[in-house]
Amino acid sequence: MTGRLACSLPAGDALRMQEPTRREVLHFKSEVRRWAKKLDLQPGAITVRAMNSKWGSCSVEGRLTFDLGLVLQPKEIRDEVIVHELLHLRVPNHGPLFRSMLKAYTQVPPARGRS
Ligand SMILES: [Zn+2]
Repeated sequence: MTGRLACSLPAGDALRMQEPTRREVLHFKSEVRRWAKKLDLQPGAITVRAMNSKWGSCSVEGRLTFDLGLVLQPKEIRDEVIVHELLHLRVPNHGPLFRSMLKAYTQVPPARGRS
């Protein structure tokens, strides 16, 4: 089976801002790696590119992809999406276990619709 895990976080109505600089993207990736360490997870590759309609996705192979626009979002949103995708390396669905883990690591109440 190839392709993505059944996960994609819709970007919703968030404003599309200008593209982040290379430096900001590198900083974002280091945030992802920091979270991965904290959660004791090893993502395959971390990719940041324009995804248009979603914030992030996680592939079956453990590759994480994040939208360029996410890099410029407030920290709470970045953290939430980062933790969400990283947790899929451990829990491949959005069941109760996944939700309680996500809640344990992020204090952000559910706001956007998520798939
Ligand atoms: Zn998900």
